[in-house]
Amino acid sequence: MSAKILSGTEIAKEIRAELQVEVAELKEKHGIVPGLVTILVGEDPASQSYVSAKNKTAHALGIHSEQVTLDVETSEEDLLALVTKYNKDDKINGILVQLPLPKHINEGKVLFAIDPAKDVDGFHPVNVGKMMLGEQCFLPCTPHGILEILKRSGVETSGAEVVVVGRSNIVGKPIANLMLQKREAGNATVTLCHTRTKNMDAHLKRADIIIAAVGVANMIKANQVKEGVVVIDVGVNRVGVSESGKAILAGDVDFEGVKEKAAAITPVPGGVGPMTITMLMKNTVQAARQAKGI
Ligand code: NAP
Repeated sequence: MSAKILSGTEIAKEIRAELQVEVAELKEKHGIVPGLVTILVGEDPASQSYVSAKNKTAHALGIHSEQVTLDVETSEEDLLALVTKYNKDDKINGILVQLPLPKHINEGKVLFAIDPAKDVDGFHPVNVGKMMLGEQCFLPCTPHGILEILKRSGVETSGAEVVVVGRSNIVGKPIANLMLQKREAGNATVTLCHTRTKNMDAHLKRADIIIAAVGVANMIKANQVKEGVVVIDVGVNRVGVSESGKAILAGDVDFEGVKEKAAAITPVPGGVGPMTITMLMKNTVQAARQAKGI
């Protein structure tokens, strides 16, 4: 059996087309243009490319976007002042501070300074708490994107054994929480694995759905999964450079081997990645609506 490929690129395209219509309607009927600001401190090439992709996507959808790049030496105080400025700026509905920040800046302090109503990354404790309680909030973009892949691909999650590998605050913990909630793409029985997990193979082997967010290239192999599993591979690992100088990427799952056993699998690239940016746009549009009570 060769798995159905769950193309995040195609699903993201579908959602972006819906957002384009929604943004146009907001402008036409309510005179609203959603606004996003991305703030990058320093010149890390990967972060630069993420930020520029976010601004390009926003622009393509008709979302007003501003890109601020600050010197790597920028002080925490100056960054906090900038966040406060955008908290008060009516043109801006979403504030994204690109992570990681330089070591001299306290990431938590900066993320907590963002107005929760503009926290389109969904990292502020107010939004994290609301998410845990299953209340309306901004969901973190990568887990939100995973839910959309599952929903739009018709993957049955109710009663499924879901094994999440990786317990980060941005992927593992939130997706584990979301999938056990009483909601669409939820109601699963969730196991969350990490480096201290004993007998990882036993957990993986009984999983109906595996979500890998580890950061180790090709870690999960075909002999560790059961026939018919659905695999969501969040990992983005640079494993080489092509002749044209582009990074060669691999997921956390050995795609070639596992696709022969799985019922469905997301590729890397072209799986979860495009969904993350798209859900940021969705959150920004949601923020603009909420700001005007629509
Ligand atoms: P992270 O903060 O580094 O967390 C990695 C998690 O994996 C940790 O909980 C760690 O366990 C666990 N882990 C590491 N090695 C393991 C092993 N051998 N066995 C079991 N667990 C192991 O990573 P992250 O930010 O969640 O990102 C994970 C991957 O997803 C990375 O490749 C990242 O680039 C990618 N990512 C992709 C997107 C996207 O949009 N596609 C978004 C975010 C992240 P401990 O807690 O015990 O250390």
